Amino acid sequence: MELTVKTVQSWLADFALEIEKNKDYLSELDTPIGDGDHGNNLARGLKAYEEAVVQQQPNTISDTFKILAMALISKVGGASGPLYGSAFMNITKASQEITSITSQVALGKLLEQGVLGIQLRGKAVAGDKTMVDVWLPVIEALKTEKLTVEKINAAKEATKDLVAKKGRASYLGKRAIGHIDPGAASSALLFITLLPYLQ
Ligand code: ADP
Ligand code: MG
Repeated sequence: MELTVKTVQSWLADFALEIEKNKDYLSELDTPIGDGDHGNNLARGLKAYEEAVVQQQPNTISDTFKILAMALISKVGGASGPLYGSAFMNITKASQEITSITSQVALGKLLEQGVLGIQLRGKAVAGDKTMVDVWLPVIEALKTEKLTVEKINAAKEATKDLVAKKGRASYLGKRAIGHIDPGAASSALLFITLLPYLQ
């Protein structure tokens, strides 16, 4: 595999499209255990990214992720904006010297810097019923070149049985059980749209 600046931008365009298509679904997931805005929050951020990328025409992978990070930090109202923003800002820093990502292992290492950004900001660990519960198993699977749609969906679905320890859903205690975490669902879309580019 080789992810160039072009393929990274195609991936992120596919992600933006999936978020737009699934924005009601994501906000519905956020309704029983949050405030019902997750899909709308992210759709607003990704629309801002798409406008900025057209305007700024970045020609490196690092600059592309920086535009995404800035758009999410400045345009997403909810907690997820700064969290995704710090992930993509860390990936911006970690990809400064590279012109392409040439293996799943290398991509896994970049994403690992990303999840460290989320965890540094939000303090969530595995099992806290957040987006981190999708990022961590995805990164592990990339390291052994075994990322599949089934694994991504299983990680997302597994958040259903968890009690939330971070974010608005944590106010609900056991009542959060039975509901998929919306941030885990949006992260699943991020990684499902990546799969075709791993060939
Ligand atoms: P808000 O909760 O401010 O309305 P969103 O609805 O956009 O923000 O995003 C909610 C999602 O953010 C959750 O489903 C969860 O995945 C993620 N999240 C919230 N707090 C944290 C945290 N501390 N660490 C990691 N992810 C978090
Ligand atoms: Mg919300």
